[in-house]
Parts: sequence; C-alpha cells; structure tokens
Amino acid sequence: MLDVAKIRADFPILTVESYPDVPLVFLDSAASSQKPTAVLEAMDTYLRTYNANVHRGIYRLSEDATNAYEAARAKVARFINAQDAAEVIFVRNATEGFNLVAYSWGEANISAGDEILLTEMEHHANIVPWQLLAQRKGAVVRYVPFDENGVLDLSNLAELLTERTKIFSFTAVSNVFGTINPVKQLIAAAKAVGAMTMIDAAQAVPHMPIDVQDFDCDFLAFSGHKMCGPTGIGVLYGKRELLEAMPPFMGGGDMIRRVTLEKSTWNDLPWKFEAGTPSIAEGIGLGATVDYLTHVGMAEIHAYEQYLTHYALEALSEVPGLKVWGPPASQKAGVAAFTLEKLHPHDIAELLDKDGIAVRAGHHCAMPLHKKLGLAATTRASFYLYTTPAEIDRLVEGLHRVRQIFRL
Ligand code: PMP
Repeated sequence: MLDVAKIRADFPILTVESYPDVPLVFLDSAASSQKPTAVLEAMDTYLRTYNANVHRGIYRLSEDATNAYEAARAKVARFINAQDAAEVIFVRNATEGFNLVAYSWGEANISAGDEILLTEMEHHANIVPWQLLAQRKGAVVRYVPFDENGVLDLSNLAELLTERTKIFSFTAVSNVFGTINPVKQLIAAAKAVGAMTMIDAAQAVPHMPIDVQDFDCDFLAFSGHKMCGPTGIGVLYGKRELLEAMPPFMGGGDMIRRVTLEKSTWNDLPWKFEAGTPSIAEGIGLGATVDYLTHVGMAEIHAYEQYLTHYALEALSEVPGLKVWGPPASQKAGVAAFTLEKLHPHDIAELLDKDGIAVRAGHHCAMPLHKKLGLAATTRASFYLYTTPAEIDRLVEGLHRVRQIFRL
C-alpha cells in the first residue's frame, strides 16, 4: 500500500499551511491534478538557470534546454513503452492529439460514406474533432452504446464495427462513470475489420500502467496536467509508419527541413508535428512528472485507487438518496459521479466548497452521456494517489450537511 502521508508531503498545495481555515479536500483530480515539488522544481530550474529556445541555438544554454526537452520525450516514451521516442509527439493536451489525428490522418484517409466509430461515453475531445472531419468529408459517425451500468454494450458491435469503419476511437477510462473499458478486446475487434484505433488515455495514463505496444493501438492521447504534470503539454503517441505517412497538422518553424518561396519539405518525426516554439518548461516538467510517477509505481497507484474507489462507493452508499452512476467499484477507476435526489449539482458543489471540499459539477464535457441518462449534470468526486479515506469521510459528512440544509 502507498505511504499516502509521505506522498502528500510532496504536494505543497495539500499542506495545511496552504488552506489553514478549512483544510482543502481536493476531489477534482480528473479535471486537473495537483503538482509535486519535483515537477515544480524542474520547471523552475529550467526557467531560472537554462532558459533558452530549443533546437536552435549553438550555445550551451540552448543545448541544455534541448537536451532536457528531448530527454523528457524519451522518458515519456519509456513510460508508455513506445518503441521509439519519435513516436511521442508533444502537443498542448489530449484535445490537440485528437484534432491532430482527425485532421492530418483524417484528411488523407477518410472519404464520403466512410464510418468513424466512437462510444456514447466519450469526452467532447473525442467527439467533436471527428464530427468536424465527418462534416468536411461526408463521412458518418457512429457510436457504441453503454448500458444502465455505464458499461459499453458490445452486443451489436459486429453491426457497428464493419469494413466501412475506418477508425475506432474510444476512451480507456470514462471521465464520468470511471468505467475501465476492455481496450485490448476492442482493439482486436477493430483490427479484425481493418479499422485504425485511437485510445483516449487522458484518464488512464495518470492512473494505471499503460503499454502502447501491448495495446497495439495506432494512436493514443493524454494530457500532462491530469498526471501531476503541467498544463500546456500533452502527448500524442502514434505508430511510426502511420506518423511518417501523415501530412503535417500545422506549419511553421521547427517542423520543416527546407523552405523555399515555392514549397517546403518536412522535418523528421517527431518534430514534423511540432510547429513553432513548443512548451519547453512544460515538456521538461512532464519529464519530471514521469520520473515521479515511476518512482511511486504505476501499479501501486492503480492498486491504491482501487482500494479508495471501493471505500468511496461503500461510504457514499450510506448517504440516503444518493446515486453513484456507473459500474461497481471492481470495474471502475477513481471517479464517482453522483446525483443526490433532485438537488442541482451546482448547489451541492457550492455547499461542499464551504467545507473546503472541491468537487466538480456539470456535464464534465460529456453532454451526450448525460443526455442519455436524462440528466443535465452530475456532481463528480475523483481520486488520485494523494487522496485519503479520511477525505472521503469528509465528503460524506459534507453531503449529510447538504441534506440537512435542504431538509431532505
Ligand atoms: N478525454 C477525457 C476522458 C478527459 O477526461 C479529458 C479531460 N477532462 C480529455 C479527454 C481532454 O483533456 P484536455 O482538456 O486536457 O485536452
């Protein structure tokens, strides 16, 4: 079991000194996680002592910056077990990863009548770029439904996933239900009909060991800020031969080999997809993040979150009128989206905030999912390696107080 007290000491924002009046109970890591000192220091050291642009200068500062930035890429590649660091494209966030593939791969490979398969539990980041592509090309977007437990209903998969399907893009972990999807099974089904696969790993890479070679996915995207890293940096993983064949997404400096007034040729991978000055401090910060998570151990983090999820679902079941949406704890990552009778989720979140409890209320960028449930919004508590059972107890106490205030 993780030594959570020791881990919490790594996160300055979680110390009592940060929030002396009502100690912070941060239960919104699925939206964005907190950052350990090691990550803050790596970024600070770069900015204070070797700040310079990368890939450009023939002077020591710039070489140091380039080495640290590229070392971060190599660390990320090892972290997700990519064959080659060139398969790790630094983007701003998971959203940009989807847009990059939908645009670059999609423009070259999708035609009128082709089908793009998603699921009904996707985040908007894995819906809207494909809808835009489908509109441009006259393609069709289809969706694998989920059942009343928030689990994908695969009974009609053979009708949805056919030789017309050019790409199947789906989330490894739902950011609302917490459902852990059977990624390898779905990838195998896609391969059987010759479809490409893209995995939304925004809620997976931060919480469990992820091995892209074991998945054998074609593309996979995630964000730094949900895994204890900085905002402004994310990763698109792609198989080398696919990335080689794809045209650039954005044009500008760094992504070219040669530019004339008539035409341009492209840089090698991964830089072909990294136009302009990148997020250098953030990239270096992401390298430190990977070091930190590796040191703690992804398997240990996953096991601890499984324990927390069981604990939370049990504790929340004692609040009368509260319903947690999604599957039982055994099929779920550390996310509990709930409703409390007919109370508005924003009212719940506001009252909890008075007790220092930070949860998210809204549609969590999954409007189709909520529409299917007949809900406009849910309240979501989400857990990470620094969450304690005592914090979940405080959430439950807070919810009892909410019930009293509304005289439920
Ligand atoms: N997919 C999932 C499942 C998510 O939870 C999120 C973030 N809420 C995203 C994609 C998009 O991440 P970002 O906003 O960092 O691009």
